[in-house]
Amino acid sequence: MGLDIRINLPKGQSTEAYDVVIVGAGPAGLTAALYCARGRRSTLVLERNMAGGQIALTELVENYPGFPEGISGFDLSDRMKRQAAQFGAELREITTVSSLTPDPDGSFTITTDQEKIRARTVILSPGVEAKRMGIPGEAEFVGRGVSWCATCDGALYKGRQVAVVGGGDSAVEEGMFLTKFADKVYLVHRRDELRAAAIAQERAFANPKMEFVWDSVPRRVEGDQLVSGLEVQNVKTKELRSLPVNGVFFYIGQVPLTSFLQGVIALDGSGYILTDELMRTSQCGVYAAGDARANPLKQIAMAVGEGSLAAVQAQRYLDELECPSSGPAVAQAAGVAHAEAALQAAGATQSDGAAQEDAAAQKNAVAQRDGAAQGDGAAQGDAADTPAREETADAPAPVEPDPAPSSKD
Ligand SMILES: Cc1cc2nc3c(=O)[nH]c(=O)nc-3n(C[C@H](O)[C@H](O)[C@H](O)COP(=O)(O)OP(=O)(O)OC[C@H]3O[C@@H](n4cnc5c(N)ncnc54)[C@H](O)[C@@H]3O)c2cc1C
Repeated sequence: MGLDIRINLPKGQSTEAYDVVIVGAGPAGLTAALYCARGRRSTLVLERNMAGGQIALTELVENYPGFPEGISGFDLSDRMKRQAAQFGAELREITTVSSLTPDPDGSFTITTDQEKIRARTVILSPGVEAKRMGIPGEAEFVGRGVSWCATCDGALYKGRQVAVVGGGDSAVEEGMFLTKFADKVYLVHRRDELRAAAIAQERAFANPKMEFVWDSVPRRVEGDQLVSGLEVQNVKTKELRSLPVNGVFFYIGQVPLTSFLQGVIALDGSGYILTDELMRTSQCGVYAAGDARANPLKQIAMAVGEGSLAAVQAQRYLDELECPSSGPAVAQAAGVAHAEAALQAAGATQSDGAAQEDAAAQKNAVAQRDGAAQGDGAAQGDAADTPAREETADAPAPVEPDPAPSSKD
């Protein structure tokens, strides 16, 4: 059941509030900015680092349409940024958003580390960051041999040996990139087969500089001032072994950058933003797009598609100033535990009890569905083994229950 909510914002008379404020200038945010600015909406993009997001850290993008020879991640993000700016989108870099607050008049206050900004609508595209492994030595050797970015740090390892941890697309592609510099790249994977795309695997297996360390998990980064080794353990034989490496690159999955949304926007159990199919979050007037959304594919093509849809929906909302309750929709998308969050979010932001009834009904429906599915141990085991970057299976990276340091790869 849908619910119409009409808010009291003066249509088209925003002197101090931006029409649209976008959080995060990765592919999703920059695409949303392009669409909103081209739609003649006052548009501001807030970015905690430099614009570009994860693709700015990617050496070569081969699977984004329109670039048959491939394009460097930096070039692609620079083009996206210029295209959005060309239509008038404003970009504020080195500006971290710390909170989002719905105001009584239906607008929003966005607090950054520098100021408070008002917005009539908000598009959330904060993306994800690399998951930490949590093993001894990982934090201590950041910048001294431990990295999550081959593109940034690979050239430091010319003539040396490095280890890459993971078995998905990122691990294999970045490992291949590191062979341009390093004499040897150990690829440490907890299974005996990779999860990366077939073409990436073919290339990796054909590369004489790649050595695969199967069925193994890292236990400790070794070194004194700088990294000198990586201790790994074979999960089948329990045998410990030290790989003689100067660099360790972790590609074991990602976590969404959504902590600033806790309690305001419905998130799933892993912190990904829940939306309906029109990118509407649990909060009327707030949309989400890209990797931070609970979606089944973390790729540039997906992020730009979602960014454009979120932008079109946000503009429709600005024109009509109404939206159906999305709390029930996000609850349905999530599961019973997450329906709780959606229910809370719906309750926190909508005064109409019908919205909560809807959410509660959804929660019951999901509970019944989950009850039927209980006992499916295999499915739960699979959930722990999260998909590679390009896989389309269960989207959000679940919390890794295995004490062994392994996760999405
Ligand atoms: C090593 C690597 C290689 C990849 N290669 C490919 C590839 O070849 N092809 C492909 O299609 N995809 C690839 N991807 C995936 C692709 O980069 C992502 O799917 C895409 O960047 C997601 O875009 P996004 O805009 O949702 O998020 P991001 O790119 O993560 O951008 C989000 C932005 O939001 C900012 N942000 C976060 N929180 C805040 C805050 N509180 N305040 C302000 N700003 C904030 C972040 O700094 C970031 O710039 C790769 C990813 C990695 C890590």
